[in-house]
Amino acid sequence: MFSNYEQFKPELLDIMVQLEKFYMVTHMDKHGSITYTNKEFLAVSHWTPKRVLGKTFWQMFPDIEENQQEANQIWGQLLNGKPWSGSVKKTTRLGKSYYVKMTAIPIIRSEDQLFSVLTFEVDMTADFQIKEKLKKIAFFDYETGLMNRHNLEKTVNQLIAKKESFAFVYLAIDRFYTLQDFHSNESRKEIIHAFTNRLKRYFQNGQIARIGVNEFVILTQFGDWFIEGFNDFLKRYPIDIQSSTLAITTSGGIIRYPENQNTYTNLMNAAITAAQNATELGGEKIICLSTASHKALNRKSLISQKLLSAIEQEQLQVVYQPQIDRQTGETTLYEALIRWNDDELGTVSPDELIPIAEENGLIENIGTFVLTEAAELAATLNKAGKPIVIAVNTSVREFISHTRNKQIMDILRKASCPPQLIQLEITEIFAFKAEEEKSIFRQMKQLKDEGIEFALDDFGTGYASFRYMQSLPITKLKIDKLFIHSLTTHEQTKQLVNGMIQFAKSMNMYVIAEGVETEAQETILHELEIDALQGYFIGAPITQKQVLTTFQL
Ligand code: C2E
Ligand code: CA
Ligand code: CA
Repeated sequence: MFSNYEQFKPELLDIMVQLEKFYMVTHMDKHGSITYTNKEFLAVSHWTPKRVLGKTFWQMFPDIEENQQEANQIWGQLLNGKPWSGSVKKTTRLGKSYYVKMTAIPIIRSEDQLFSVLTFEVDMTADFQIKEKLKKIAFFDYETGLMNRHNLEKTVNQLIAKKESFAFVYLAIDRFYTLQDFHSNESRKEIIHAFTNRLKRYFQNGQIARIGVNEFVILTQFGDWFIEGFNDFLKRYPIDIQSSTLAITTSGGIIRYPENQNTYTNLMNAAITAAQNATELGGEKIICLSTASHKALNRKSLISQKLLSAIEQEQLQVVYQPQIDRQTGETTLYEALIRWNDDELGTVSPDELIPIAEENGLIENIGTFVLTEAAELAATLNKAGKPIVIAVNTSVREFISHTRNKQIMDILRKASCPPQLIQLEITEIFAFKAEEEKSIFRQMKQLKDEGIEFALDDFGTGYASFRYMQSLPITKLKIDKLFIHSLTTHEQTKQLVNGMIQFAKSMNMYVIAEGVETEAQETILHELEIDALQGYFIGAPITQKQVLTTFQL
């Protein structure tokens, strides 16, 4: 065996010489003490030949637990007689890090005992730095060094996974694009830079991301009042740019995890919505949804909870608003409107109540209740020789039931109310759905055949389409109060209302103006030959008892 080695010795020497040219080579004894290094190693590690001898394998790694553990692992494998190969972080004599690909080979001589170790290394620092740079571009905003959107999402998801509570703060610099008009692109960068510094100073150890040209997100533990104070801080430290001082303000939204929202997307959307509200209010505001919307949320669920028992215990009330015919000046109709006063909730307006009832399905109960009351009143008036129509507002949700028309007719029969004395008011959303869904259309048609009239409510505010009037059994149209309110102030509105009236009449529809509040409005509507009027100027909603008194009943 020995003779074989001697035989190949010149070739082995050649191999060794070539290897030493390309690799950093180190030889250590079985305790890891360095006994030999080549020039390549010394050049990269900045050791001198004298000083490095006797230093240990471990001393070539950074003196950090993580790296020392790695060194232990490698050495453990070598002790077991297995070579090791991989990338490691090492340290120069002066403590600077460098990265190598290392192959460590154990030399075993007798009784399977480790005799010594040889390592071959290639310097990979340049490669590593490029990789780091790429990582930075992928995770950080290159202009400010802050996290980018991608990194923010990752960070938020990590916090959520750990169930750590935090405030998600979205901030946009107000009027950023007009700020820029006065300045060059260079100063745009300066503004962003100065703004970033102020964010870092104010939010201390918060995590900050830049997610758009002038949009930032901060994840912080600070309280709402502190976050809201950021605009004051900006005022105290304005940004000096090209010898002028720039007062920068922000619009923002604060959403808390887990109280307000519990996913990254929801946090982001809610915070942006809050900030948009702040911008609409003129900017320089950071809106905290945690209190305002929380109260609203609580109120909403309380309304939802109490509604059923309120209906069952007949705590809801119906009031009636008169409508007069323009030509005769007589009250021909009353519109039924729901009212709810609760000890705890106070007044719950229909605009608040109806959407909640539509959501929790109680809208059918409300519709039934209002219609029953309306039918009873119409029947009473009719018996007294006053055939007055009562209008009832109807939600399209009530017609999800395919037999709503039968239920309606049952209610009228029980109250002995002729169908001709009931009018159903529908919105454009209702009309839209009725066109789409055969069942709704069919029920409308059957009710119409029984004598019930349909009026299209809030005309002009929704999809405003004259198409419905051709395709659906609608005979009346109520022009929304929005148009009536600007009749006297906008000539254009007057022309628009005139157009609506003329067109509807050409289709044999009866046109009503709602929300008439002044004499001036009434005069114009007379001029435009409206068919009927409704509104506070004509008469406010009154109770059933008051209606009966009006007719001396
Ligand atoms: P709507 O059908 O357009 O009813 C007219 C609304 O305008 C009523 O508000 C009425 O009180 C108000 N109003 C009447 N005259 C004037 C006026 O001169 N000026 C102004 N500014 N407002 C006037 P209310 O009672 O708060 O009802 C709001 C909406 O809630 C109703 O709008 C209707 O869409 C819905 N609603 C009310 N009761 C019911 C109901 O029993 N069922 C359903 N599904 N919806 C209802
Ligand atoms: Ca109405
Ligand atoms: Ca209306």
